[in-house]
Amino acid sequence: MSRRAVTLLAGAALVSALVACVTNPATGRKQLIFVSQEQEIRLGQEAHPGIQAEYGAYDDPRLATLLQEVGGRLAASSERPTLPYTFTLLDSPIVNAFALPGGPVYATRGLLAYAQDEAELAGVLGHEIGHVVGRHGAEQASRGQLLQGVLGIATIARPGVRRYADLLGAGAGLMLMSFGRDAEREADGLGVRYLGRAGYDPFGLPRYLGVLDALADARGQVLPSWLSTHPDPGSRVATTRGLATPVLERMRAAGTVPRSAADEFLPRLSGLVYGDDPREGFQKGATFHHPALRFRYDLPEGWTSRNTKQFVASVDDEESPTAQLVLRLVPRETAGELSPQEHAAQVARKNPQVTLQGTSQVVNGLSAWLGQVSIRDSGGATQRAHIAWIRHGGLMYELTGAWSQEAAPGTVSALERSIRSFREERDASVLSVEPAVLRVELAPRGQSLESICRARASDLAAPCEELAQVNRVEAGAVLETGRRLKLPLRQHPMYP
Ligand SMILES: [Zn+2]
Repeated sequence: MSRRAVTLLAGAALVSALVACVTNPATGRKQLIFVSQEQEIRLGQEAHPGIQAEYGAYDDPRLATLLQEVGGRLAASSERPTLPYTFTLLDSPIVNAFALPGGPVYATRGLLAYAQDEAELAGVLGHEIGHVVGRHGAEQASRGQLLQGVLGIATIARPGVRRYADLLGAGAGLMLMSFGRDAEREADGLGVRYLGRAGYDPFGLPRYLGVLDALADARGQVLPSWLSTHPDPGSRVATTRGLATPVLERMRAAGTVPRSAADEFLPRLSGLVYGDDPREGFQKGATFHHPALRFRYDLPEGWTSRNTKQFVASVDDEESPTAQLVLRLVPRETAGELSPQEHAAQVARKNPQVTLQGTSQVVNGLSAWLGQVSIRDSGGATQRAHIAWIRHGGLMYELTGAWSQEAAPGTVSALERSIRSFREERDASVLSVEPAVLRVELAPRGQSLESICRARASDLAAPCEELAQVNRVEAGAVLETGRRLKLPLRQHPMYP
């Protein structure tokens, strides 16, 4: 859950019905575009602040500069070099990149962590610039897809996303946006082209596509947008390799040494935040802590939580839950300065199918309204749940505890105890929790990643298979001397 508000506006509503069939300068393809270049630029620029607000820019000026430099070099070599490109590193562990019409390009810190050299980062950015140059977003806008598909939503589960990918479902938003197979193929081709023109190793793109392929296989994690519509992402690796081969030959013939810059690149990743950021909420034992928002509450024994931008959902059983507790931040527009009781009255007034029964109370020193909610669904059945609204730190929290008939005995009272355990977080060790960060180190002589994982198990913040993917090595193989390893290290004893 995040303090950042979701404030994306449907800027695409401004799209006018000005039809233009234009030939794209990069692809030679005729496109039916309803938006002028000015409108295209405006679409992207209007959405940009919302994306920054939702995901947050990653706060590291050195890496921001790196992204600008690499992206700027590629954009300058494109067929639309004068667009107002921006390159923003987003504070998300999800491995992804995307672009908006007219120039804004984004990559996540998760994507950066998996890159092995500058050419791979350049490959990803080149692909995204390819979408901008190919006017794929503008084409979508022209088809009206941008309205519902892109600009209206921008939210995604962040922590725990690996385990809960399937629960994200619809509305996961911009990060999962995809342009479709033809547009992806076109962007891949342009990406390879720009790599070559900007002096980068053109195999940077197929190499990173290979990483995405392996990630999708290994984890079934949320697929990056540019993979999600492709039944066979591996074929894109082969296709882009085929495109890169003649580009590399031409570069060599012209006497250009293709740039990869692994030795410069990897040390720049030292200090990069890795994985979920526990400051945005984490479960430790049977307690959910949110250091940034300074609250905690206890869960029934054995429950697990999933923490998204919008809510924290805890269940008794991940496979087949019979009961759940959901904590949600009531939007400021709704809660305003209302007391919990006034808010409850407002909810009842606005939702005729909802019946509330409860009282104002003080819970652990916080002003609250606790009770039961009954919701009549369209079929006439009634759902019952515990519900509470609690004021804390100027915000209004809603906790809902629901159960099914299959729930274990005692679940109903356990849910109520959990709700009543909501309190201010005062534990200094929780409030000072730090995320894991990457350290880039030289591999010790004669060791394998597996032996390093065993020796440093208490410091390492990710399982060995994940480290093997991050470093592109076989876990059991002896590492070459002088090889640089990216190791995510715990910085704090509370790190979950
Ligand atoms: Zn793409």
